[in-house]
Amino acid sequence: MKIVSLLFAVIATAAGLGMPAFAGQPFAATPAFGNELPEARPPGAMTLRALPSGKIFSRAALAYEGGNFTDQREFNVGAILVQHPSGNLLFDSGFGQHVNEHAKTRTRLMQWTGRYERGSTIAQQLAMNGIQPGELKAVVLTHAHWDHVSGLENLSGVPVWVTQQEFDFVNSGHRSTELARQLGIGNYRVYGFSNVPYLGFNSSYDVFGDGSVVLVPAPGHTPGSIIAFIALPSGQRYALIGDIAWQIEGIDIPAEKPWISRKVADNDADATRNLLEHLHALKNAFPMLIIVPAHDARVWNKLPRLPVP
Ligand SMILES: [Zn+2]
Repeated sequence: MKIVSLLFAVIATAAGLGMPAFAGQPFAATPAFGNELPEARPPGAMTLRALPSGKIFSRAALAYEGGNFTDQREFNVGAILVQHPSGNLLFDSGFGQHVNEHAKTRTRLMQWTGRYERGSTIAQQLAMNGIQPGELKAVVLTHAHWDHVSGLENLSGVPVWVTQQEFDFVNSGHRSTELARQLGIGNYRVYGFSNVPYLGFNSSYDVFGDGSVVLVPAPGHTPGSIIAFIALPSGQRYALIGDIAWQIEGIDIPAEKPWISRKVADNDADATRNLLEHLHALKNAFPMLIIVPAHDARVWNKLPRLPVP
C-alpha cells in the first residue's frame, strides 16, 4: 500500500513539476470587494466551535501543486457548530459510527492512499455537551462527499440543507455521492439563493437575516458546493470553504490540487481554479478573514473548540 501511495504522489508531483500554479490556465478577473466586509449584526450569544471527528493521512504533494511528498499532512475530518439564538447549524457531519463501512464507498485508489483514523462522532461530542440532534436547526453540507455526510447516520431527523445542484448531483448516481444515497436523502431540504451579491459572488442566502451566516454558491469541487461566511459578535469573520482547497496553501499561493487529485476529486477543475483565485484575492483584501478548508488541521487547531468533558 505504501508503494501505491508513493507512486500516486510521484505522478502527482511530476504532473506539476517546475510549473507555476495555474500554469497556462486562464482564470476569471478578480472580483472587486470594496474596502469593508459586508455589514453583519450577529447576536451576542452566537458562537462557532470546531468538532474534529477523525483524520485522513495524506501528503502536501497530493493537496496542492508544489506541495512536497515528504510533507505529511493529517487531513482533519469534522464539523463546525454555529450556535445562534434563532437556531443551531452544523456544517458537515464528520465521520459517523460506521465509518469503516462508509469508507468502502470510496474508489479503490482513494482506499489505497487515504488511510484514516476515527475519533468520537459529532453526535457523541454534541451529547457530551448536552446537545441533542433535535436541537439542531439543520446540517448544512458544504458538499455531499462521503467524508462530509458520514456522520449524518447519527443525526437522524435533522434537516440536511443542500443546494438544488448538490441534490441533483446526489440523485444523478455519481460515484462520489454513493454514501449520501446509501444513508438516505429523506431529510434533505433544498434551499435557494437571492440575487444579493456577497463579496464578489453573484447570489447569497442570509440564513438569519442578520448577516451572521451567509451562504454563497461555489460550484467546482462538486456542482452544488457552497461557501459559508460566518460573522461572530467579537468581529471575527470566517469562510468555511469545504474542499475548494484541501490545505490553506491552495488559497495562500494560490495553487490548484495536483493533476491526479483534480482528476479524482474535483468535478470542475476550471471553476475550482477560479474560486481559489477569488478566495486568494479575498484574503489579501481582508487579512482578518479566517479561511477554513474542511481538511486543514492546522487551521482547525486554531478554531474555538466545543469542550469535551
Ligand atoms: Zn472532503
